[in-house]
Amino acid sequence: MQNGLTESVYDGFTAQQLFNQGVCYTYDDVIFHPGHIYFPAHEVDLTCNVTKNIKLRVPIVSSPMDTVTEAEMAITMASLGGMGFLHYNNTLEEQLRQVQKAKSHTPGFIVTPAVLSPTDTVSKLYDLKASRGFSSVCVTDSGSLGGRLLGLVTTRDFDFVTDRMTPLAEVMTTDLVTAPEGTTPEAAAELLKKIKKNKLPIVNAAGELVGLATRAAAKESRSLPAPGAPSLDSAGRLRVGAAVGTRESDKERVRALWQVAGVDAVILDSSQGDSTYQISMIQHIKASHPGLDVIAGNVVTGAQARRLIEAGADGLRVGMGSGSICTTQEVCAVGRGQATAVYHVARVANALGVPIIADGGIQNSGHITKALALGASAVMCGSLFAGTTEAPGEYFTLNGQRVKKYRGMGSLEAMAKGSESRYLSDTQALKIAQGVSGAVKDKGSVRRTVPFLAQAVKQGFQDLGANSISAARELLYGGGMRVEARTNAAQAEGNVHDMVAFEKRPW
Ligand code: 5GP
Repeated sequence: MQNGLTESVYDGFTAQQLFNQGVCYTYDDVIFHPGHIYFPAHEVDLTCNVTKNIKLRVPIVSSPMDTVTEAEMAITMASLGGMGFLHYNNTLEEQLRQVQKAKSHTPGFIVTPAVLSPTDTVSKLYDLKASRGFSSVCVTDSGSLGGRLLGLVTTRDFDFVTDRMTPLAEVMTTDLVTAPEGTTPEAAAELLKKIKKNKLPIVNAAGELVGLATRAAAKESRSLPAPGAPSLDSAGRLRVGAAVGTRESDKERVRALWQVAGVDAVILDSSQGDSTYQISMIQHIKASHPGLDVIAGNVVTGAQARRLIEAGADGLRVGMGSGSICTTQEVCAVGRGQATAVYHVARVANALGVPIIADGGIQNSGHITKALALGASAVMCGSLFAGTTEAPGEYFTLNGQRVKKYRGMGSLEAMAKGSESRYLSDTQALKIAQGVSGAVKDKGSVRRTVPFLAQAVKQGFQDLGANSISAARELLYGGGMRVEARTNAAQAEGNVHDMVAFEKRPW
């Protein structure tokens, strides 16, 4: 006390003060005060629980959308320490195949090598090069992975071939060095170095192609910062999640995903998860398959969260209308600013020991740091990973830019393929879209994106003065974490300004 004034060490607001004023905020609206640094950024531990029973070293997961997560994305995300959730806009058989592919993958190898048959022509190679960026293909008798390996075609074998109808049998190299199934990625990298080749097909005892190791992948994994150990189950297989609905037929989907394919967790995929359908599905799963973790949602309020947690949810997905492709708030007038939603749901869920995933609206590493600092255990990304090499679909050119399709699961286009149950509109005669369909630019590989995002988040945590997610929680709930809303001018000031020209490269 000095001159009758109490000097408070802290200024700004606690999160509780900021998020209880009748205004909802999203990530860009809020900014955190820096804390006290007592550790280097590389010591920040981002290990999180994505469900009550599943731990990840990297708190980033990919969204169950049909333009974001199929087996290749799920494999890559888990290899990097995160996790992928497979969409279910497909048949049960197709979804099971995707889970099995992810669960049987050996980390460190090319997930889906390009494979053609000896009767395919050189013109098909050019098509593959343009649409998927492949510069070489394996040739097998069946034209697919699992067929008997016959040869390899690289650019050098075909770039002087003028007749594009030439069959690959005439141009492929048949004198191959291969490695046996079970070879570790490290041993494959050593062999590639020794034989001075770029590709090393991996074959089983019957000579069938089971994978491909490449010099480029080996070099890349050495040059990138390791974001975290791969996410593995107790048997050493990659972790993978899958989305399901809440219809009666989804009970069979859940059973098969768990008992046949060994999925690690299911997500009940709904834009408004606080429903009797979801509560009875959670209760059914917990009673019939007690070992299987269920992530319920989506929710944006503490009351919604409590109902799903009481029904038995092992994790919650938070966000309504915050997704980049989403029109729910405009069409249905419900939802919540994402920063406010994350704070309030996390407050209730964390007190009950249930982790939450902040889903939608993540545009950069700062948004991830904010979501985690507000109580989320992990973030789920759609748009950030759409347009990457690992996302489903092929690249095409739009207005001179190389792009891939990205669409909301509530877009008319996706609903026509089956996803309308997410919006509880599968029985309605008139379909109302809650999402859009479009394209996003080529973003390269998530193998590059995820390590840099994780590193940037570690730096954010260092600035906050939190060396782990649990340390951030202590600050958040203990009042040491100070936060403020930013005016429009403050937001403009926080971005690059007064530059005539600049290039904004995040890494
Ligand atoms: P993004 O990362 O692109 O900002 O958001 C992805 C998230 O948006 C998804 O994980 C999902 O929760 C949500 N989402 C996906 N498709 C749609 C849609 O068509 N409508 C709405 N309302 N949300 C969607």
